[in-house]
Amino acid sequence: MGVSDTSFAPVPPGPDQDVLLRAATAEVQDKGFILANLDNLINWARSGSLWPLTFGTACCAVEMMHTGASRYDLDRFGVVFRASPRQADVIIVAGTLCNKMAPAFRKIYDQMAEPRWVISMGSCANGGGYYHYSYSVVRGCDRVVPVDVYVPGCPPTAEALLYGVLVLKNKIRRTNNFAR
Ligand code: SF4
Repeated sequence: MGVSDTSFAPVPPGPDQDVLLRAATAEVQDKGFILANLDNLINWARSGSLWPLTFGTACCAVEMMHTGASRYDLDRFGVVFRASPRQADVIIVAGTLCNKMAPAFRKIYDQMAEPRWVISMGSCANGGGYYHYSYSVVRGCDRVVPVDVYVPGCPPTAEALLYGVLVLKNKIRRTNNFAR
């Protein structure tokens, strides 16, 4: 297996990873450089350093904090919360989105760096949830911004959000950055 065949998919520790590391070491020692697919390299870097905006609008935000705390430890996936949309490339819509909040939400989405992604967390963000028939609630944050991953539940568990983040990582890895 050549190193240039590497897809940057996560290879767990074990014989496969050993083979990959041996091939990489041999290629560096032989040629002094490694050839890799730029598309895969970009996607690997992007999916390995997702920086979500600290953004919670209701009770789902508590589960989001739980996911970021020590038990589930999002940091180990390269996911580090940022307090400014200028430094964030993911927004997790954690909670009910009110009509009054919608313009501000769209504004901070527009301020985020591109490429940017959206995770809709919980029934309220997905479709209004309990408040679907309320006069004051947006019936799904996808009416305001494009959503990449929907995490179901009221509230979704911390594990469910973690799974949503992993699904987003896989989605990014499948992206073609260059038109062919
Ligand atoms: S989905 Fe449930 S837990 Fe989440 S914001 Fe709505 S009511 Fe709260």
